[in-house]
Amino acid sequence: MTRGEHGISRKGISDNALKVLYRLNGAGFDAYLVGGCVRDLILGLQPKDFDVVTNATPDEVKALFKNCRLIGRRFRLAHVVFGREIIEVATFRGHHQNSTDETGKKPAEVLGKQSQEGQILRDNVFGSIEEDAERRDFTVNAMYYRVTDFTVTDFANGMQAIKDKRLELIGDPETRYREDPVRMLRAVRFAAKLNMQISPKSAEAIHQLGSLLNNIPPARLFEEVIKLFISGQGLRTFELMQEYDLIQPLFPQLSPLLKSKDSRENQFIKKMLMNTDNRINTGQRVTPAFMYAAFLWYPIEEHCQKLMDEAGLNHFDAFNIAVNDVLHRQIQRIMIPKRFSSMMREIWLLQLRLPKRFGRRAYQMLEHARFRAAYDFLLIRGQIEGGKLLELADWWTEFQEVSPEQRKQMLTKLREAEGGSARRPRRRPKRKKPSAS
Ligand code: ATP
Ligand code: MG
Repeated sequence: MTRGEHGISRKGISDNALKVLYRLNGAGFDAYLVGGCVRDLILGLQPKDFDVVTNATPDEVKALFKNCRLIGRRFRLAHVVFGREIIEVATFRGHHQNSTDETGKKPAEVLGKQSQEGQILRDNVFGSIEEDAERRDFTVNAMYYRVTDFTVTDFANGMQAIKDKRLELIGDPETRYREDPVRMLRAVRFAAKLNMQISPKSAEAIHQLGSLLNNIPPARLFEEVIKLFISGQGLRTFELMQEYDLIQPLFPQLSPLLKSKDSRENQFIKKMLMNTDNRINTGQRVTPAFMYAAFLWYPIEEHCQKLMDEAGLNHFDAFNIAVNDVLHRQIQRIMIPKRFSSMMREIWLLQLRLPKRFGRRAYQMLEHARFRAAYDFLLIRGQIEGGKLLELADWWTEFQEVSPEQRKQMLTKLREAEGGSARRPRRRPKRKKPSAS
């Protein structure tokens, strides 16, 4: 496609990505922009990142750029680093049969490796641009932009798919999902983000193969699951995940609580995702800790109740054990870095402290580093459950907004309402010790 046909202008392309393309071309290599950035530019969207693909091997790329590091085992590639922007440079992937590697010596099996379920464990067989295109996931992701003549090469009829709003895997869906089960998550993510329909053939296989996500290392799933919910279309993505039975393999403790469509658990997650989408779409920060805290909140409550009923534990002890148990089970599936899990724990534990407001506690709570997150969390709970919980959330809303004098009055009123006196409860006078004499 010529420039007139695809409409991509160099102005939409990051200067650093252009630098990488020019440098590779200057050294005699082929180099293209590929994947999501080309797709998004055609759609008139701002690409999230710019990916380059070339016939230079990772080592050859490294030799060309001082600011370059090689990463990845399953999929070796080069990162060219420009301050905060990273341009990913991959070498054309080839098919695993009858291919040679960069030196032409090692047998292909060492470079490409497959599991019994058909999952590709290592993908470092290099090939031609045509082979590279066939190894990409969706037809809309297999378009290549060349800066030397401003053309886009569309190997899988992605342009037509964009016009039809059709998301379609390249090749046989079952084989492609088995090769990399994460493609199922990518399917729902792109369908939601790009407002496209997953083609019937690509959609059908997902219902059967979702459990293969259990074979993906928890660390990779952490990255992929974040992407699902920070696209600004998290709610839509979640609904599609439910439709395609993808919650169960990722959140096995939450999934049973979502069976009924109107359950408070369902509403709670949706409300949280709606808020998250709003924040993202208005440029506010979000943290994965808050989202995970919400995904696991009702599983914790349920488990806590069970521990109280069956083991006779008090609420505080049961709650702490439930937090540990639920978190432990979740990280078998999705790794959660410490910095996030410790924040999740704080958000959860503060839910127990927010009702306790007497004396200096309310003021101390306002100063707590996680107060804001814990309050936002309480507010969503209140909006879903109503009753006392909503009253509590509203109380905190007001307490933050009013003057110091009014705060005092709020606390006095609270004490009266709870049946105590406005003053400190008097200590029972100590009994006098009998004197030694
Ligand atoms: P975005 O960056 O908006 O999330 P993207 O399509 O650019 O979307 P990346 O993860 O950046 O997604 O991948 C870049 C390209 O690499 C994709 O467009 C696709 O061509 C290819 N790709 C990525 N992941 C896979 C995969 N699991 N299987 C096959 N091809 C993939
Ligand atoms: Mg990308």
